[in-house]
Amino acid sequence: MATALIKKHKYASSAILAGSIVSAAAVITQYYKGSAARSAPPLHPLLDDGIKKGDAKFAGGKLRCHCASRTVEVTLDGNVAHNHACGCSKCWKPEGALFSVVAVVPRDQLRVTANEDKLYVVDDKAAIQRHACEECGVHMYGRIEAEHPFKGLDFVHVELSQEKGWQEPQFAAFVSSIIEQGFDAEKMGDVRAKLKAVGLDTFDSLSPPLMDLIASWTAEKKA
Ligand SMILES: [Zn+2]
Ligand SMILES: [Zn+2]
Repeated sequence: MATALIKKHKYASSAILAGSIVSAAAVITQYYKGSAARSAPPLHPLLDDGIKKGDAKFAGGKLRCHCASRTVEVTLDGNVAHNHACGCSKCWKPEGALFSVVAVVPRDQLRVTANEDKLYVVDDKAAIQRHACEECGVHMYGRIEAEHPFKGLDFVHVELSQEKGWQEPQFAAFVSSIIEQGFDAEKMGDVRAKLKAVGLDTFDSLSPPLMDLIASWTAEKKA
């Protein structure tokens, strides 16, 4: 009886001990996540306060450039896909943001519906022809005209829309590329921790499914 009690007590105390270790670890993890998130610089307005889920039934909407008058307007006839944070130097990003948030939409679902005459192609030698407003500089859409695995898709920034329901960011791509734009390499841990804390996996290329798609296209071309 006594040994049974002692045994019971032993189990009980080790369970309590195990429980307190688990909660201490949780506290440390929370603290680390919290401090990393606090010390990390702003990533993007759609990421910094946590990601808001999109609506699977959302049917599209309008993107508008930043001009107060003669605003360029692009209408999308459906929701976007593969929305993601991108650290590359080519994607348009808002003032003060480290990352852009960019998604794709089939090109036949995109129409410029106002002030198209203000658009120009930023770099006509780039794979993605980015059509930007000559006045405010915002990129309204990027289109691929050359042979490319993503031909048929246009690249867009859903933050240019007032409507809610666009697919939320799914992952972070080309994260290390922000160093090439002058970001301190020593602080990359904070940036990656903050991306993880808002729920995004981080990659230094595109996501594995998209890299597989590119490789499959290349293999097919070679065959
Ligand atoms: Zn503009
Ligand atoms: Zn990019």
